[in-house]
Amino acid sequence: MSFRLANQGGRAVLLSGGGVYDLERHTEGAFSPDSMAAIARHSELHAVVGRLDAVEPDGTIDESLFAPPVPTPQKIYGIALNYSAHAAEANSDVPEHPSVFGVFPSALTGPTGDIVVWGDTTDWEAELVVVMGTGGRDIAPSDAWSHVAGVTCGQDVSERAVQRRGNPAQFSMGKSFDTHAPIGPAIVSVDSLPDPDDLELSCHVNGERRQHARTSEMIFDVPTLVAYLSSITTMVPGDLIFTGTPSGVGAASRTFLQPGDTVTTTIEAVGTMTNRCVARPS
Ligand code: ZN
Repeated sequence: MSFRLANQGGRAVLLSGGGVYDLERHTEGAFSPDSMAAIARHSELHAVVGRLDAVEPDGTIDESLFAPPVPTPQKIYGIALNYSAHAAEANSDVPEHPSVFGVFPSALTGPTGDIVVWGDTTDWEAELVVVMGTGGRDIAPSDAWSHVAGVTCGQDVSERAVQRRGNPAQFSMGKSFDTHAPIGPAIVSVDSLPDPDDLELSCHVNGERRQHARTSEMIFDVPTLVAYLSSITTMVPGDLIFTGTPSGVGAASRTFLQPGDTVTTTIEAVGTMTNRCVARPS
């Protein structure tokens, strides 16, 4: 049975039929409240979900209470230029190998967390985020999806001026401002996706559609990315891959996020996440 795993107030919860089920409570302590531990035991969650019909939920789903479903990943990989039309709008060549930058985990925020507009060039990037469930090195493309706990929605919010600073530019800091990596609402297990390599993805800013694509348009698909990343780094449960954004980012039209804007990220069969932009604290 497929599962949806979220994080409510620092406790791992399963979502089913509109209800929230505390993982520790409903497994009588067999699982701890720790989301990272639950992700590492992702293969056991399917059976837990199967038993939830018989019990009362702990509450109804209120996504405003949700924290990042992966609160403390060891690594966050970002993939640049993974859609041809986005490479074209960025005046960049299509890469021969996956183009990877690091995002510091302190950038994470929850599915309704505010995005702080730190600079004048804050930009949206809707992305499918892959959550590793089983680690390893040299994972074969054919095994890659079986190493994935699930997927979730993400925004790789970018400060373009910082991202492009220097020669050669180093992307990581421009992608790592606090609050610039919202994820959620929940980790959706791979078996619930109609085709994990072909999901519709969109981004709306203030209700206006700015990005719309399918993940089948990726230059390097998820199996290829997992194989490549695990050929260099040992992957561990909870590692996140921001798989790249399609065309339609603000930089292409010199339109950037302002305090008061809302950014809505939607992925077919995964969910919707809406984040509000706010001014930097004074
Ligand atoms: Zn990105």
